[in-house]
Amino acid sequence: MSFEDKLTEGEFCIPECDECKKIVWPPSEICSHCFGNVHLKEGDFEGKIMEFSRQNDQYFCIVEFENTIKIMAKISVTPEIGKSVKISKCGISDGNYFFQVI
Ligand SMILES: [Zn+2]
Repeated sequence: MSFEDKLTEGEFCIPECDECKKIVWPPSEICSHCFGNVHLKEGDFEGKIMEFSRQNDQYFCIVEFENTIKIMAKISVTPEIGKSVKISKCGISDGNYFFQVI
């Protein structure tokens, strides 16, 4: 299954190269560093809030995983820079990745 198939099912996986062990982001089935095969690491990953903004009554934050992956996520509580969060919900909506963290 591809990263997007997993994401569609609500599961966030981290794409990692079989050969050089680097994280491949944006996700791809072939490593952008060494052209090796990429597998998906499953887990309950913790990310860190790097920045956030507020739009209407909703907070959005940039969350970084494994010092490499940066995603934009919705958060329902007031975010704090540097705080650890986990993905509570994810998917693809209108062709875009969608994430919510707690
Ligand atoms: Zn590689």
